[in-house]
Amino acid sequence: MPARVTVRVPAKVNVQLAVGPARPDGFHDLANVFLAVGLYDEVTAAPADELTITCSGPDADKVPLDRTNLAARAAELLAARYGRSPDVHLHIAKDIPVAGGMAGGSADGAAALVACDALWGTGASRAELLDLCAELGSDVPFSLVGGAALGTGRGEKLAPLEVGGTFHWVFAAADGGLSTPAVYREFDRLTPDAVAPEADPSLLAALRAGDAGALAGALSNDLQAAALSMRPSLAETLAVGTAAGALAALVSGSGPTTAFLAEGEASARKIADALRASGTCRSARAAASPAPGATIVSG
Ligand code: ATP
Repeated sequence: MPARVTVRVPAKVNVQLAVGPARPDGFHDLANVFLAVGLYDEVTAAPADELTITCSGPDADKVPLDRTNLAARAAELLAARYGRSPDVHLHIAKDIPVAGGMAGGSADGAAALVACDALWGTGASRAELLDLCAELGSDVPFSLVGGAALGTGRGEKLAPLEVGGTFHWVFAAADGGLSTPAVYREFDRLTPDAVAPEADPSLLAALRAGDAGALAGALSNDLQAAALSMRPSLAETLAVGTAAGALAALVSGSGPTTAFLAEGEASARKIADALRASGTCRSARAAASPAPGATIVSG
């Protein structure tokens, strides 16, 4: 068995997030088009006497280091499934904004599953790992598979999607997070007549063609109005990126991170510079997509 295992895992942006009415179980049916982007966390698993977690990176102080951390829950779930104790130390090198609508916690959950599976030699199949991911949360299976995928149900039923080229993005992190459940509650309040969500064929065609212009015209996020209602200042950030040449600007998932689709790498750099200079965001980072899912990088 390896002495330690490090897994790299990407953030995601929702290029379409269509949200239906609240279901009796409180979840919402979604048509959720996930695209993995090249901003990564790394989770390292090493043997320990008991389950412990540490975290490094600019947002480390916002990450819980107890059993509520999704990486810890992943280790516990895998250990329980294989009848062993979760005696592992997990270190999260965090680069994905926390509570930013980029699925950072979900990413760490998927990464911890893959890392512990390799460290413990449990030999879980891909299908078993995907089942465990779905138990951990709606966005976790996508962090395992990466690339692009359509999520239906509450987002956890995944069908892979073809992507015909590289898309260049800028992500602007905002001060403070937005609680995903609170954004959904605001969506329910603002959208009493929500209809059954469906994937947009023109968006899927744009992804398949690798056509940034067409993708820009098709991007949509049903949670954007709710996120803007809770954080009106995000409109300024969106306007700065658009004025700096973004083909399109939108709130990423439940926010408050905002995402800007650029024509190419040079344009992405220019948009990121303008966002940083504007003072309307905490940081701005360029990243390309699609990116691979959770991958062992050492061990
Ligand atoms: P999503 O896009 O899936 O809605 P998010 O990107 O908005 O998620 P996360 O970064 O996953 O949000 O964090 C949401 C909350 O989850 C945090 O405020 C934190 O309390 C908790 N959390 C649990 N585990 C982690 C983790 N490993 N990394 C970050 N946050 C975590």
